[in-house]
Amino acid sequence: MSAAGLIVLPLPVRPLGGETVSSYLHRLAMRNGVSPDRLARMVGAHPDTTEAIAALSGLDPRTLPSALPQLRPGFPDDADRASRRCPACTWCALAARAGPATVLAAPDRVVCRRHRRWIGGPVLACRADQQFDCASIPAMMAAGSRHHGLAAQWGLPGYGAAFAESIHTLGRAQARGLLVGHGDQAINDRRRLLASAAPNLSGTALDILAWYPATVAHTAAILRRRHSPKATPTPTRDGLEYLTHVT
Ligand SMILES: [Zn+2]
Repeated sequence: MSAAGLIVLPLPVRPLGGETVSSYLHRLAMRNGVSPDRLARMVGAHPDTTEAIAALSGLDPRTLPSALPQLRPGFPDDADRASRRCPACTWCALAARAGPATVLAAPDRVVCRRHRRWIGGPVLACRADQQFDCASIPAMMAAGSRHHGLAAQWGLPGYGAAFAESIHTLGRAQARGLLVGHGDQAINDRRRLLASAAPNLSGTALDILAWYPATVAHTAAILRRRHSPKATPTPTRDGLEYLTHVT
């Protein structure tokens, strides 16, 4: 028994990247046949959450915060709000063999790069049963890679805000009946591929996702203009620039 009165549970559970503390504790408890509520109370009663989880999981307390962001010093208290969480990639959760997991939604985490599955991120979050395989839709994969690269280039807060701005533009266009396709065959074709790959997504979500590559391009244009106001505007693809003006 450790000095904290907590013992290492026999079956290890690996945290998923960005997982919430409550999700990880639930999976740790379920894998070891312990009541999740009891485990949560044990951790809650301990003065140091990181040390308590390390004692129960057998993981190094120095590396736990890299996987569980809520353990990082200064992490915002409101980060556990439902609107900031989404299901982890279901294939990552399956590989970890400890049941469904919840992660903090992050602007740079819209596609699981390991399994090439769409998980949505904070603005386009979807349920676990709405995740889908992007591998069969090359434009979505390419846009997802560009999305990750831009988030790294501009930083998460700035990129996330600009991407949300682009999505809201699309939302207004969708509400006014200006989507789908806007006369562009590539978008109409992508809409059909998405409907086949993601049968559990709503029609509205499919409309928005069909525009995803253009949304990423538009986000990049927003950031360029914001940081270099005198720069020559770069035309964005698929008419999103048009929608910005008419909505
Ligand atoms: Zn995955």
